[in-house]
Amino acid sequence: MTAPFALPAARPYVLKQARVLARSLPEPMGPLDCDGFAMVDILVDEGAIAKIVPTGVVDFGEAPEVAMSGRIVLPLFVDVHTHLDKGHIWRRKRNPIGDFAGALAANIEDRAANWTAADVAARMEFSLRCAYAHGTTAIRTHIDSVGPQTRISWPVLAEARARWRGRIDLQASPLFTIDHTADASHIADIEEMLDAHGTGILGAVTRMAPNLHQGLGVLFELAECKGWELDFHVDESADLAAHSLAVIADMAIERRFTRPILVGHCCSLALQKDDERRRTIDAVARAGLNVVSLPMCNMFLQDREAGRTPRWRGVTALHELKRAGVNVMIASDNTRDPFYPYGDMDMMEVWREGVRILHLEYPFADWAPAVSAFPAKAMGLDRGVLQPGNPADMIVTHARDFTELLARPQSDRIVVRNGEASNDKPPDYAELDALEGLAP
Ligand SMILES: [Zn+2]
Repeated sequence: MTAPFALPAARPYVLKQARVLARSLPEPMGPLDCDGFAMVDILVDEGAIAKIVPTGVVDFGEAPEVAMSGRIVLPLFVDVHTHLDKGHIWRRKRNPIGDFAGALAANIEDRAANWTAADVAARMEFSLRCAYAHGTTAIRTHIDSVGPQTRISWPVLAEARARWRGRIDLQASPLFTIDHTADASHIADIEEMLDAHGTGILGAVTRMAPNLHQGLGVLFELAECKGWELDFHVDESADLAAHSLAVIADMAIERRFTRPILVGHCCSLALQKDDERRRTIDAVARAGLNVVSLPMCNMFLQDREAGRTPRWRGVTALHELKRAGVNVMIASDNTRDPFYPYGDMDMMEVWREGVRILHLEYPFADWAPAVSAFPAKAMGLDRGVLQPGNPADMIVTHARDFTELLARPQSDRIVVRNGEASNDKPPDYAELDALEGLAP
């Protein structure tokens, strides 16, 4: 598609009559349309946003103008829960029936057989290039950290992080099941790798094991001692007995843990009895936990049974959490691996799917920051808003309201970084052929 507008090579320039969500601006700028958008002029100078004003109130003199005619401009995306180390292994290790147990088993087999440093690095790079092309500015990934893999993957993560500095902020949290906390040598390995290559975040997969409380105690204590944040995979299950979310929240309150905690999935919360769910949500709010829902993977993995139509979308009680004042968000999770055969590290896709799966549109504006400002807050980053003084990083679309924005995949979006339109495209899958041991 030919863009009806192009950004001028000369700077400064003005995006004239751009439609911007009021929630993406640092201060109110009315009047707003019925979807919560303000009509503004954005002055870009020296690669930064120099000014944002209500449209028409300032004469920008000689600066060339781009007639946006009410097209939507978004902040760059923040993807707070991903698995860059697992991505793109589907062709060599598929999930035989598409369920959670099949995904776990397939991942363990592929990890043991193939995850050399070079393999992990190449797949990570592929995913980062996808995310960058689609307009993502910050990513948190989980890193499988079990046995020898811990010492293979963390140096790779650190190298990727350094290579992408200034383009994508990369954070990482280790991933292992909570029972590993009983093994002192495992915890020593994790501590050493995080000290050397980590980003100050400790995490694990919680499940209703007899040692859950004790295991969480080990992780909280280590995090307190190091000043680290925590990030957990929580209750990714339809099992009503899975309530480790409540255990985490209670422990955070009891220990007066002050660093940020992010919890992902929390699927079973949606299925629990109203009283229990209310109690847990209240504790989550009091503990100040951040909650990320992974709508695409949850819908793929949860409630799957061969020959039976799913009855549940798999997602957590995100509306109820938000209403209780919890910082809530959505993210990618897995990409073309046994947990999810689709995905492209594209937060626009996560957003449009998330809106449909989780009903994130009444009102649309209230939920829009769930792909930008809310995850940025959870990551401790000043991103996800359009703010004078910040780099002119934004996504220029051809859409003029939320249905135009979400009805199409926005393949013609223009990703602008430091005031310049980016030419990056997602890489060709054929680049992965050699890694997967496959002929083109
Ligand atoms: Zn995950």
